[in-house]
Amino acid sequence: MFRIHYLLFFVVLVLFSCQNKKKEQQRPNILYIMSDDHGYQAISAYDQRYINTPNIDRIANEGVLFTNSFVSNSICGPSRAVLLTGKHCHINGFKENKGAFDGSQQTFPKLLQKAGYTTAIVGKWHLKSDPTGFDYWNILPGQGAYYNPDFIEMGKKKRYEGYAPYVTTDIAIDWLENKRDKSKPFCLLLHHKAVHRTWEPDTADFVEFYNKQYPVPDNYFDDYATREAAAAQKMSIRKPDMDIAYDLKMEYDGVKSRFKWFRTHTGRMTPEQKTKWDEHYQKIQKEFMAKDLKGKEYELWKYQRFMQDYLACVRSMDNSIGEVLDYLDEHGLTDNTIVIYTSDQGFWLGEHGWFDKRFMYEQSFRTPLMMRYPGHIKPGTKCDKLVQNIDYAPTFLDLAGVPIPDDIQGVSLTPLWEEKNPEWRGALYYHYYEFPNEHMVKRHYGIRTKRYKLIHFYNDIDEWEFFDLEKDPEEMLNQYDNTEYADVIKDLKKQLNDLQVQYKDTDRSTY
Ligand code: CA
Repeated sequence: MFRIHYLLFFVVLVLFSCQNKKKEQQRPNILYIMSDDHGYQAISAYDQRYINTPNIDRIANEGVLFTNSFVSNSICGPSRAVLLTGKHCHINGFKENKGAFDGSQQTFPKLLQKAGYTTAIVGKWHLKSDPTGFDYWNILPGQGAYYNPDFIEMGKKKRYEGYAPYVTTDIAIDWLENKRDKSKPFCLLLHHKAVHRTWEPDTADFVEFYNKQYPVPDNYFDDYATREAAAAQKMSIRKPDMDIAYDLKMEYDGVKSRFKWFRTHTGRMTPEQKTKWDEHYQKIQKEFMAKDLKGKEYELWKYQRFMQDYLACVRSMDNSIGEVLDYLDEHGLTDNTIVIYTSDQGFWLGEHGWFDKRFMYEQSFRTPLMMRYPGHIKPGTKCDKLVQNIDYAPTFLDLAGVPIPDDIQGVSLTPLWEEKNPEWRGALYYHYYEFPNEHMVKRHYGIRTKRYKLIHFYNDIDEWEFFDLEKDPEEMLNQYDNTEYADVIKDLKKQLNDLQVQYKDTDRSTY
């Protein structure tokens, strides 16, 4: 009798352990790729006017492309804090790029780690405090460098030869291949430095983008009528905010610049890299000086010069993303790995005459988002539901089978591909804080529904703006005082107030 019991116990134990092993194998890996300042306009899955990005597009073509994807605070560090916590900035405490992220708080990598995942972050971090919740981290200090960048590997600084997107990808692949615990599912955050200012292209991409001309946005010469905060910003391509030397690389003798004799672009380069760089930009500068452009012609030349370098940086990043997708294919990891591509926020590519981000207006408020999950997400899916970066953390927890803590403010995106008609939010909340600071974008908060947007600029100003995005997608006419919209605006104000209560952003002493 004792023997039979013993045998039964043994059989049950083996079955249980097999089942657990099966469950373990089924838990998906997560590869989260995030770039810096990559506007959706510069991804061909969204917009074909500027550049073809076949590798990024592959993720969308083989999965889902979100066409209404937004951030909660359009700036680098805060956006990363939102990613990690699934909470708005006033809750996670990182509202502006200054200060340091409180790494002792709950984050999704920590929760995944506890649930048996192995976790890593490679690339741009930008939260000042050391990463927590990662078995491996190898991050760029601060903004990082494009050429021969330093990385901090688990606290130890090391210089890598090469160009940032490729170096970052190589480090990520090295972790996948040689450093991770292969008995566990992985979650890898691959964060690119590209395509952040000052857009320093790889020398290999000079030829493709040399003197290429791009369509200029209709509102490039926006006069900001009806929008007081928009008129007060300092991020115009047309003005010295975009510097001829610092930003556009015309840094040789004979050019006026507010960054006089700014020459740090080449400071980290090898002699070979520097020679190619100087040849390329000196040639462009010679042509530019010969033209002696003035007024609008000069302002349009600046737009093209900016776009050439920005898009060249997109090119190398897209190539490097192809490398990591190939790695997954070649190592049998594609089927069980969720791949996400996004940016920490959107970016102006000349709309309203601007570069940079920050405003709740469309091109910076939006961010690209696509996900691939073979066997779960139907290839070629497009989703137009309102999604936001507070949703990423709960989505990853959900996909890993980890319970989502109640204090997380976003929601899992999985119903959007698992259910036919999921119930979904009708409005998004936004709050930007970094003022006064570079670019002088005033503090504001607001609400966006599918059709309307209401923004309140505050602090040293008290201005409401309202846009009907169906009639005015470029947000050129503030209709806050148009009585035809009085009922719509009244309703939006109520919804905005409800969102502030829902997200616990009601402490009026802070804004
Ligand atoms: Ca950014």
